[in-house]
Amino acid sequence: MVRPSHRWQQAHHPYAGLVAVLATKHGKLPLIAPPIEKAVGLRVDAVAVDTDALGTFTGDIPRPGPPLETAIAKARLGMSATGHVIGLASEGSIGPDPAMPFVTADREIVVLVDDDNGIVVWEAHSSWDVVAASTSVGAGDDLGTFLAEAGFPDHQLIVRPNIGAMHPIHKGISSTEQLTAAIAECAAVAHDGLARVETDLRAHTCPSRRAVIAAAAERLAGRIAARCPACGAPGWGRIDVVLGVPCAWCGTEVARPRAEIDGCLVCEHRETRPVVSPEDHADPGECSSCNP
Ligand SMILES: [Zn+2]
Ligand SMILES: [Zn+2]
Repeated sequence: MVRPSHRWQQAHHPYAGLVAVLATKHGKLPLIAPPIEKAVGLRVDAVAVDTDALGTFTGDIPRPGPPLETAIAKARLGMSATGHVIGLASEGSIGPDPAMPFVTADREIVVLVDDDNGIVVWEAHSSWDVVAASTSVGAGDDLGTFLAEAGFPDHQLIVRPNIGAMHPIHKGISSTEQLTAAIAECAAVAHDGLARVETDLRAHTCPSRRAVIAAAAERLAGRIAARCPACGAPGWGRIDVVLGVPCAWCGTEVARPRAEIDGCLVCEHRETRPVVSPEDHADPGECSSCNP
């Protein structure tokens, strides 16, 4: 916690007219900068730092920590490269949805790190609409159905040997000629004679992911614009959820959100916001007593 400062009390947004740096190698500036500039007047410049050192989507470098920590570390890379005290970065996680393992989910986090005031503001957006296709093929196989499913060439591809060698690995493939040549080369060195072909999930080669990053940036812009009603600091919003809605039959509390708690990142101010009305009850089907 940082001490609330009189600077937050000004009528104009505390970030208006300041400059932040976005650490990105993959063309995220047009996704992240516009909503933030529009919401609070914070100008965003990009710096091309090598965020791949923090792990890559293609799996050649494992990701070091949970996505929020990785996003914060990326933002700080950009800040130390440029000397800015406000930094931005994003980080995505793409994989089977924990609740529905056959569906691929993309969760994108966008973070703002303000080391001048010691605050970190972040928001996330999740989508099931991301294209993440993969297959194993031999040289000369018909790829028509797969390429349609993979949204090729708008969505670019990665090709590598299916089993055995880790190299060669071809990224950002966007033409049939490149694809055919890469499959032939990778299949020839693979132990099983097949090439692995999959969606290149980097932001600049995967338009369906870009849409999710833009939506997360939109949320972050709203969160930065929201200021604490008590001290005026940016980043006011939901910090916790209160569970417990009474069952309609027996009154046992069911683990459903009853209220959300909004909080400040700087002072101790909190406000509880009910999300159900006091007369609302939970379906007995969800109740551990009525429907064990
Ligand atoms: Zn019940
Ligand atoms: Zn506050």
